[in-house]
Amino acid sequence: MERADIVTLDKRHVWHPYTAMEAYIAETDPLVVVRSEGPYLYDADGRRYLDANGSWWVSTLGHRHPRLVKALVDQASTLAHSALAGITHEPAARLAAELVSVAPGAGRADVPTEHRLNRVFYSDNGSTAVEVAIKMAAQYWAQNGRPQRTRFITLSGAFHGETVGATSVGGVPEFREVFGPLLFDVVHVPAPSEEGGWERAFAEVQRTLREHGDSVAGVILEPVIQGAAGMQIYSPAFVRAVREATRAADTFLIADEVFTGLGRTGARFACDLADVVPDLLCLAKALSGGLLPFGTTLASERVFSGFLGAKSRALYYGHSYCGNPLGAAVAREVLAVYRDEDVPGQVARKAPRVKAAFERMAETIPGLERPRALGMVGAVDLGSGGYFANSGWRVYEAARRRGLYLRPLGNTVYITPALNIPDESLDELLHGVEDSLREVAGR
Ligand SMILES: *Cc1c(COP(=O)(O)O)cnc(C)c1O
Repeated sequence: MERADIVTLDKRHVWHPYTAMEAYIAETDPLVVVRSEGPYLYDADGRRYLDANGSWWVSTLGHRHPRLVKALVDQASTLAHSALAGITHEPAARLAAELVSVAPGAGRADVPTEHRLNRVFYSDNGSTAVEVAIKMAAQYWAQNGRPQRTRFITLSGAFHGETVGATSVGGVPEFREVFGPLLFDVVHVPAPSEEGGWERAFAEVQRTLREHGDSVAGVILEPVIQGAAGMQIYSPAFVRAVREATRAADTFLIADEVFTGLGRTGARFACDLADVVPDLLCLAKALSGGLLPFGTTLASERVFSGFLGAKSRALYYGHSYCGNPLGAAVAREVLAVYRDEDVPGQVARKAPRVKAAFERMAETIPGLERPRALGMVGAVDLGSGGYFANSGWRVYEAARRRGLYLRPLGNTVYITPALNIPDESLDELLHGVEDSLREVAGR
């Protein structure tokens, strides 16, 4: 199909996510992607774009990694789907065992059995992985003697996904406001990256646990980086302190590692940077390597044991595609590629270059603020203005002309490229970002 025909159909019928559609239809000449490979996207005119954003943070091993494609095709040739309610299949069983064997705390003698992340619940994406965790925590308390524990503590700027439950525990005002009346009540504490630092945020967590402790079902957080808030990086010490406080209050810690999980920060899990084992751990995005939607929620043996017994105590939750064999097979191969290609080692080697590049940009380009980096995340702010600011989008346009797909978060310009991006592509990416920022900020 010709590019123009695709755009015509698109503008007539496709409703795009996170997109002001009137302006899009009137003004946007969209990137029409026809192919992807490694760190690159290719458009309908044959132009190549470096995928600075990992196609919304999922493409951690590059596009169409040959081993992932093969795992998908092989699996599709034997079993593409079956339900998972009370029946099972090899990909789901083996992936669960493999995830448990690499989860935070795995194999550590000092982690008691009840705290081990030993149980894997499957769903479709990051939002559902969070939704599952919320329901597990709420139902656990409802049927284990603490029915008043229904509130969650969450951070300002938190992003946990799109469903109404996940939006309720979110903290980005722009995404919450309009749905206000539909959302359940949560306690927001300041973000640990805000002024006052993690200590102030932690003091609020402690105060809330002290004053309302017995109404708290759990604390949910994105460990070490709040992604959608604009790549806000904070000290692992906060995660550690919240872990200790939630243990002391005997309530749950839910780690949403949908973005950070599987190497983005340099560690396998961001929880590992804090040496923390959460009660519930949400994974998606990188888990299926950008091939298809897939999500999991890992639960501790304690959480799981709260659902044993009478039929009425089971978790009545499950999506049609729960544990989909294609997703599970690809996720298994993702874990294998991480191991075989030493992806953590690759990140450790490349991360200092990302950090140095963003620091240099902030030093040499006027108007840039707060350069920050961790693992394969680099970010910088271009003036103020928050999520609806236009400055990031001017950089997006400048980058596009240079062959870079660089979607911003408001006034935050960031990169989340493939973790295995080749050195020369990373150079090209960092220079492209720098030149684009210089063009826009220099105006
Ligand atoms: C992207 C994201 C989600 C939502 O995941 P989807 O797969 O888009 O539903 C949840 N939590 C965090 C931290 C995320 O970055």
